[in-house]
Amino acid sequence: MKLTSNFFLFSFGALFMQTARSAAPTSLDWAILNETLGGRLYTAKPISSPCFPDFDGVSVPRIEASCKVIEENYLNATFRSSQFGNFMAPQWESCMSAHSQCTLDSSDPSDFLAWTDLPCEQGSVAPYYIDVQNYTDIQIAFNFSGTSDVPLSIKNSGHDFFGRSSMIGSLALWTRNLNHLSYNASFVPDGGSESYPAMTVGAGVPWVDAYAFADSNNLTIVGGYAETVGASGGWIMGGGHSVLSPVLGLGIDRVLEFKLVTPDGEYRTASAYTNSDLFWALRGGGGGTFGVVLETTSLVEPRAISLQVASVSFNSTSETGLQFFQLLIDNGLQWAQQGWGGHLLMNNFIIVNPLLTLEQAQTSMQNVTEFIQSQNGTVVIETLPNFNSFFVKYVIPNEVPVGTESILASRLIPSSVFETQEGRDTFLQALADLPAAAQSVLAMIATTPFLYNATVNSTSTTPAWRNAVWHVVVGTGFTWNSTDEDKIAAFEEANNFTETLISVAPDSGAYMNEANVYEPNYEQTFWGDNYPQLLAIKQKYDPSSLLDCWRCVGWKGVNDTRSQCYLSLD
Ligand SMILES: Cc1cc2nc3c(=O)[nH]c(=O)nc-3n(C[C@H](O)[C@H](O)[C@H](O)COP(=O)(O)OP(=O)(O)OC[C@H]3O[C@@H](n4cnc5c(N)ncnc54)[C@H](O)[C@@H]3O)c2cc1C
Repeated sequence: MKLTSNFFLFSFGALFMQTARSAAPTSLDWAILNETLGGRLYTAKPISSPCFPDFDGVSVPRIEASCKVIEENYLNATFRSSQFGNFMAPQWESCMSAHSQCTLDSSDPSDFLAWTDLPCEQGSVAPYYIDVQNYTDIQIAFNFSGTSDVPLSIKNSGHDFFGRSSMIGSLALWTRNLNHLSYNASFVPDGGSESYPAMTVGAGVPWVDAYAFADSNNLTIVGGYAETVGASGGWIMGGGHSVLSPVLGLGIDRVLEFKLVTPDGEYRTASAYTNSDLFWALRGGGGGTFGVVLETTSLVEPRAISLQVASVSFNSTSETGLQFFQLLIDNGLQWAQQGWGGHLLMNNFIIVNPLLTLEQAQTSMQNVTEFIQSQNGTVVIETLPNFNSFFVKYVIPNEVPVGTESILASRLIPSSVFETQEGRDTFLQALADLPAAAQSVLAMIATTPFLYNATVNSTSTTPAWRNAVWHVVVGTGFTWNSTDEDKIAAFEEANNFTETLISVAPDSGAYMNEANVYEPNYEQTFWGDNYPQLLAIKQKYDPSSLLDCWRCVGWKGVNDTRSQCYLSLD
C-alpha cells in the first residue's frame, strides 16, 4: 500500500511539475488534481452568495429558495458546520483587510440591506477544497501545494476563533466527512504493551455524535460543550477542555494515539511510543500546524458516570451581578477542590460533579442557593445518570449563538488568586472595572484539570492549565456593516480586556483555542517554556512551512501572504 501510494505521488508530482511550475495553477492543473482525487475536488463560494445579486464584481441572479434556507439557518451551528463555505464567525469568511466579504446581518438575516449595500466576494473562503476521505488525499494535497505554491488550509467544523480554518486563495482540506467511530475495550497504542478502553474518533466527528456513540456503548468520553465542535480536530490539538476536565483531565491528557499525514507526505501514527516527539507536540501544540489528523484514539471510562448537576439563574442588576461574581470567586477554589466543572456567568451557572452525592452537592451549593432564592431566582440540583443525559438536557438548549462577528479575550486564573483575600479582591475589582456589556457575557469556565493528576511534561500546552481554577473568557464583536475603524476598535477592546485579565494573573497563560486574536507574547502565553521544543518539532516535520496559521507554532508572521486578511492594529 505504501509503495503504491509513494509511486502514485511520484507520478502525480512529476505530472504536475510538467504542467505547472508557476504560482497560479491553470484550469488544466486543477482538472488533473480533481481527476487524481477521484473527483473529490470542489469549488467553493461563501455560504451566503445565493442571497446576493453579484459575485466578485459580476452580476448574477439571486437564488431565492437557497437564500431563504440560509437566512433561516444563519445562526445555526449544525447548518453552518455541515457545509464547507462558512465559518462560525463570519469575519473569517471575509478578507477584512481587503473589504472582501459576503455576509448577512446576523441580527436579522433577512435584512435586505446586507445584500444591497455591500457586494458579495470570495473573501477568505478557499476557492477549492478536497472532501478528504483517506490519507492519500492529504498526501496529494501536500504535493500539490509544495509544487505549486498554492497554500493549504485545513477545515473541520469552522469554529476556530482566530480564523485558522479559512485562508484566502488556499486549497482546503475539509475533514468533516471523516466520521467513523469505534470502541475497543483493550486498545494498545502503537509500540506500547498496555491496553486501555478507548474510542477511535474520525477527524470530522462532532461532539454530539461522539457522545451519542459513547452513550450507546455505556462509556464516558471527555469532550467539549457544543454539539458541532469537532472531537478530533482543533479541540484536541489545542488542549480540549470539558466540564469533566476538573476530575478526568483535558482532551490532551486522555489521547492515546493520532493518525495523521505530516507535511513531508508521510502517513504516520503518533503515540507515546511511536513518533513520540510528534505525539507530544500534538498534545497541545495546536491544530493546523504539525500535519493533518485523520483520527484520534482516546481513553474512555468504560461505564456511565452519574453526575450531580447544579443549575441556577436569576435576573441580575449591575449590583447583584457583581455580588454574584463575588460569591463565585469566594467559592471558586472550594468548588474546584470538590470536583465541580462548568460555566458560570453573571446571572446563572450550570455545573456538574462526578464525585459528590446529591446530598453533598446540596450542601456544597447551600450558600449560593440562599443567594439565588433571595433574588427570587431558580435553583435546580439533581442527579443525572450519565453525561449524555446532561448534554441533551442542559448543553444543547443553552448553546452559544454562532453566525455573529465575535472576538474573545481570556486568561487562566491560578489558584493563588483565590487563596488570599487580596487576590480575590483584585480579581473582583478587575471584573467590576469591565464595561457592563463585557460583564454580561463574561464566562468563568471551571473546566481546568484541577484535580487531575497529569504526568509532568506529557503535554505541550501551557503549564498554566495545571494550577488554574478557571479559564475566564470575555467577548466583544462587530457587525456585517462595521467600518474598518469599528472593527479595529473591537479588536483593541479585546486587547484592553486581555490587559485587565493579565493584571489579575500576570504569570499565567491562556487557552490557545479561546483567546485574543492579537494576543501579545502569544508563544509564552499559549505554550510557556514548551515553545522552543514545539518549534523544533515543527521544523523537523514541516521544514518548508507548508502549514502556517495565525499565532500558531512557527507562524510566519503578518507579512506572509497567508495572513494578509487580518487587519493591522498599528
Ligand atoms: C460555540 C463554540 C463552543 C466551543 N466550546 C468549546 C469547549 O467546550 N471546549 C473547548 O476546549 N473548546 C471549545 N471551543 C473552541 C474549539 O475547541 C476551537 O474553536 C477548536 O479549534 C475547534 O476545532 P474544530 O476542528 O472543530 O474547528 P476548525 O475551525 O475547523 O479547526 C480549528 C483549527 O484546527 C485545525 N484542524 C481542524 N481539523 C484538523 C485536522 N484534522 N488536522 C489538523 N488540523 C486540524 C484547523 O486548521 C484550525 O487551525 C468552542 C468554540 C465555539 C465556537
